[in-house]
Amino acid sequence: MLAVCLAVALFSALTPVGTRINNSAYDVIYQLYPPGDWSPHSAILAIDEATYKKFGGQRQLRPMLADALRVLQKVHPKSIAIDITLGDPSDEKDDAQLEAAMRDTPNFVLPCQFLGDRWELPLDRFAKYAVGRVGHVHVDPTQTDGISRTIPIEMIRAHQDFWALSLEAFRLSLPGAPEILQSPEDVSIGKVVTLPIGRYEGVRTLRIRYRDKGIPTVSLAALVDHPERAKEFDGKVVFIGVTAIDARRDQVMTPYGGSHISGIELHAQALETLAEGRFIVNATELPVLGVCVLIAVTMFGIFAMFSGWAAYVASGAVLVFAHIVPILFYKSDLYFPYFAALATAWLSLVGAAGYEYFVVRRQLATSQSERDRYQQAIHFVAHEMRTPLSSIQGQSEMMGRFALPEEKRKQMVESINSESKRLARLIQTFLDVERLSDGQMQMKREPFDTSAVVEACAKRVRPLADRKKIQLHLSDPIESSLNGDRELMEYAIYNLMTNAVKYSPSDTQVWVTACQQNGHVKVSVKDQGIGMDEQEQKKVFQKFYRTKRAENSGEAGTGIGLSIVDQIVTHHGGKMELTSAPGQGSCFTIILPVNR
Ligand code: ADP
Repeated sequence: MLAVCLAVALFSALTPVGTRINNSAYDVIYQLYPPGDWSPHSAILAIDEATYKKFGGQRQLRPMLADALRVLQKVHPKSIAIDITLGDPSDEKDDAQLEAAMRDTPNFVLPCQFLGDRWELPLDRFAKYAVGRVGHVHVDPTQTDGISRTIPIEMIRAHQDFWALSLEAFRLSLPGAPEILQSPEDVSIGKVVTLPIGRYEGVRTLRIRYRDKGIPTVSLAALVDHPERAKEFDGKVVFIGVTAIDARRDQVMTPYGGSHISGIELHAQALETLAEGRFIVNATELPVLGVCVLIAVTMFGIFAMFSGWAAYVASGAVLVFAHIVPILFYKSDLYFPYFAALATAWLSLVGAAGYEYFVVRRQLATSQSERDRYQQAIHFVAHEMRTPLSSIQGQSEMMGRFALPEEKRKQMVESINSESKRLARLIQTFLDVERLSDGQMQMKREPFDTSAVVEACAKRVRPLADRKKIQLHLSDPIESSLNGDRELMEYAIYNLMTNAVKYSPSDTQVWVTACQQNGHVKVSVKDQGIGMDEQEQKKVFQKFYRTKRAENSGEAGTGIGLSIVDQIVTHHGGKMELTSAPGQGSCFTIILPVNR
């Protein structure tokens, strides 16, 4: 049960619903614990609406860029990342002007993007000056809800591999612009910086830790008018890109909600995360699995050890823990899939509580039926004892009260003696059968004579039969012996005979036959009584079952006798057979292996 709950929970955390819930939870945690502030490592040189107006629209992008680079040459940015595609030639004069500006710019990165079947790369005339090479500008290829929590730091498409623009710009900003080296677990830049960006399912993603206050931005239009503002870019990684709402390529949302931000700001934010070195790393499978197993085991443990309120309070505490686990991880800069813990906790709670409920109910039902059985057994004993007891009582009273002739007195003493013996036997039989069915007692195993048992029973039943004017026929004695407990077997055969007499009208006949066939002894008791239908025949060996016909016959009974007979016969390695029809009499047969 525990394993099933755990498996279902972990599996559901991987479904699209699970992913969505994980993302939303991440956003909430993000908002609850904002990363705080730090002095920004980057700045944006924005081509905004005012710039468009000043330069004369979108067609003037290259002159705008050339101007921007010229201004930046006057200060010392650490590196420059340009997010303007330069894949196609435009006006030759503009291109030549831009090329010249690039030639004089020491450290910049150019963008590239994948167009579905091929990479769009900047024209060679520009790219040859890009010391920082080319970086891709994709923001979130797997985005499902428009919120950019991560960026792919590496993109492998059409057999070409590009690092993100932000990573290339970061590399370039480091002294000596070291090379990027990678291993499955991380990415390092030279020997100085190691970024914990492992490759999961083939992709390396960087969780962006957004700077609360955004990235300082200067409009190109403002910079042209006030060239002194260029110093704001000194010592920074500068991102140049379009922020004008109607022209910008990508619109993304941050986990903070609110309005969209531009793609260029997203790249700058990614750089902030890289430069500040405050990474949020995915918790690996082992801790995630460990926490989920811990939650599930604790939950099941609680329900195994406690019940009622104690269990609910303790399981509530585990639920709370499951809900705050992702926060605890987040505080250690680890991303924990919220839904895995949540689903594990809730499923284990339902599983454990449900399991306990059904087990407790079953135990309750068992103890209830045991109590019923006990009561019925008491009822049975009381009922069976009444006849011999009243006979003893009656006869002893008569003997005390009247002066009886010697012969009559002798007869009564004998009767009292035999009735009390019967009583003792009855008690013994009952106890034996109870202990036998509980598996507490080993049945006696000794040979005894079949016909002797049958005759002993017949002797006891005859007075009852006589009272109802029922003729009791016994077959000729047979020479075969049985192995087992004579007392119990006598009880069984006697029971069949008393039933035959009990459930037959007056002036009928009962045949008791014993024979040996194919290594088996068969003892059958056949009557001409009320009989029973097929449905009833299937149930008569069950404890406490009585047919409607028997109830209506006015004969007292508990419905326990036949079940005991059946148990006795089974313990002797034999079986019962029954043929009967309503109103046409019944024939019960005991089939036992013969004692060789
Ligand atoms: P009891 O006789 O105390 O009810 P038993 O276990 O001996 O309990 O019998 C169970 C039921 O089987 C009886 O109540 C009766 O309905 C049915 N039964 C048993 N023997 C006969 C019989 N010879 N003819 C008809 N019905 C019988």
